[in-house]
This record gives sequence, structure tokens and C-alpha cells, in this order.
Amino acid sequence: MDRERVREEVERVRRVAAQGGYRLHPDPAFVEELVEGYLVNRDRYGYDSCPCRLATGDPEKDRAIVCPCVFRDDDLADYGACYCGLYVTEDYEEEDRQVVVERWDPDAVAQAEVKPSPGEKAGSFGTLTAHVCSVCGYIAAKENAPRKCPVCGVGADRFTRISLAAGKG
Ligand code: SF4
Repeated sequence: MDRERVREEVERVRRVAAQGGYRLHPDPAFVEELVEGYLVNRDRYGYDSCPCRLATGDPEKDRAIVCPCVFRDDDLADYGACYCGLYVTEDYEEEDRQVVVERWDPDAVAQAEVKPSPGEKAGSFGTLTAHVCSVCGYIAAKENAPRKCPVCGVGADRFTRISLAAGKG
């Protein structure tokens, strides 16, 4: 693949990471490998499917794993790195790397919208957990608050956890 294309994409992703209050993995070669992986998927499927998961090729099923996937923020909060290790937290140390438990269930299309709470069956609807930014009102439909609000930039401590009852309609 064209190296210039990969490097340009790495710089774009670096900006995306900074917007979320994160950074990219400290090993540049590892980062390029992952970015190249989803660029291959972009050419193959037409979307940036996660470079370390086997996409189904069905855009609806794969929606949850378009990079950055819907699990990224929760994985960063719980493990300090996303499932692939492309995004890491500011204080991430490679020697502390943990195995990130897979949250994606390709048959649970609803994961593209909301991640189930721990213990809740993947893809089911029940109590939805979200975090609301107390400054700008941004709502993150996630188990953990984002480290940084993507809209106004305040930290996780300014988010309030809420639970909502949800039905199948
Ligand atoms: S696990 Fe990381 S690299 Fe894979 S889709 Fe999620 S954010 Fe992107």
C-alpha cells in the first residue's frame, strides 16, 4: 500500500485520538500496521472496519466496529487501550498491557447504538446506561464516561451517570 496514504491517515487518527483525550500506541510501526489494516478494509468493504476483527461484510452488522468502534471508550476506561491497541490512554505503559475482552457480538446489531451493561445479554434491551456532560449536555451512551467530552472538552469528572429504561418499542 502507498506509504504516504498510510502516514496521512495516521496523522488524521492522531488528531482523532487527541480530540477524545487519548493518544496512539507508542510504537509507530504498530500504529501504521493497524491503520493500514483498516485502509485495506476500507478498500474492500467501503468502510473502516476494525483491523483486528473479522468483519462480516454486512454494513449493518459491522457498524459497531467501524474505527473508532463503539467499544473504544469503554475499553480505554477499563484496560487503558482499545481492543487492537491503536488508541491508548495518556498514562498507558506497554508493559502493563492487558488482554482486552471482546465486547462485539456480530449478531447483535443493537451494539452499534448501545453497549449492554455487564451481565446483560448482548443485543438485548433493558436498562441503558449513559453519561451526560454537565457542561454542554453531550450524552455518551456508554457504560463509562469518556475521558474527555468530545464537544466541550471537559474531563470525565464532569459527567453524570444515568440509567434509562428501554423497551423494544
Ligand atoms: S478496537 Fe481500536 S482499532 Fe479496532 S475499531 Fe476499535 S478503536 Fe479502532
